[in-house]
Amino acid sequence: MRVVSGIQPTGNLHLGNYLGAIKKWVAMQDQMECLFFLADLHAITVNNDPAELSANTREMAAALIASGVDPEKAILFNQARVPGHAELAWILFCTARIGWLNRMTQFKEKSGKNREGASVGLFAYPVLQAADVLIYGATHVPVGEDQKQHLELARDIATKFNADFDVDLFTLPDPIIEGPATRVMSLRDGAAKMSKSDPSDLSRVNLTDDDDVITKKIKKAKTDPEPLPDNMAELETRPEALNLVSIFAALTGSTTDKVLTQFAGQGFGAFKPALAECTVETLRPIRTRFIELKNDHDQLDALLQKGAEKARAIAAPTLQGAYDALGLLTD
Ligand code: ATP
Ligand code: MG
Repeated sequence: MRVVSGIQPTGNLHLGNYLGAIKKWVAMQDQMECLFFLADLHAITVNNDPAELSANTREMAAALIASGVDPEKAILFNQARVPGHAELAWILFCTARIGWLNRMTQFKEKSGKNREGASVGLFAYPVLQAADVLIYGATHVPVGEDQKQHLELARDIATKFNADFDVDLFTLPDPIIEGPATRVMSLRDGAAKMSKSDPSDLSRVNLTDDDDVITKKIKKAKTDPEPLPDNMAELETRPEALNLVSIFAALTGSTTDKVLTQFAGQGFGAFKPALAECTVETLRPIRTRFIELKNDHDQLDALLQKGAEKARAIAAPTLQGAYDALGLLTD
């Protein structure tokens, strides 16, 4: 089993990233071989400020380590230090079909009304994601619900390449999407996912928010006037309430059913302070460690370089296999 997963170094690391991805990474690193990368090549698909990108890449490394990712256990690196990601992506662009990419809902969401003005990279980035996992022969990819479609695309690309060139080169990766917080929603809109790129800061809890800011954001979270029910079925039509209950369950390692048993009949006046407290308690030690680490550029760079060296060694045979399968002459 080999786990591969990435996160964009776009700043604003939030509770959705933590519960949907990072917390799971931390649990997995003890059980199997893991490669975790900062997706800096993905970050340049939208407007990019070079100084900010370098700063965000180091910051994200610090945030991951502060959250419990251990570079001694997992291979932690940034994509740009492993050129094989971009090389394999080019090869896979020639396998993927335009019709497949046209069906990707994230592109539609992210490009919005500006489809014609979006970069080719933004359109094609699910193919780079396919390269990211296929190059390491990942068997499992822990992701939030929002990435499920892209992982299916990676499987389609792998299947087509293997069939087209009659090879058994690429392993089909399975997604790991489980637990109560696979899709943490915005605090302002129960129909939109919590996202780094949401212009409203009140929509998310950032990992860098202090205790007071976290408490204030949760108090201001959109809800309805009804008390909490005693069963999950009744939350189906109440997306904001469902979101807060799911966050509580994920933070406390409980289930949504148990949370409802505890809070049934109570209103948000009682529930929100309890939720704020467990959010604050979870994030405080992470924030403290993050602040200590983030300005130690030498240490962070050395860790990322070391991780990249290990990643390049694992990537090399698959990349060579792809060149060979295509009849490309290399040395
Ligand atoms: P952007 O809006 O710029 O795409 P993002 O918030 O989606 O940013 P990513 O870096 O794209 O963050 O995703 C990092 C990881 O976090 C991925 O595994 C993704 O599935 C997961 N993730 C992102 N948002 C959520 C969310 N709201 N709930 C659960 N998991 C999430
Ligand atoms: Mg995303």
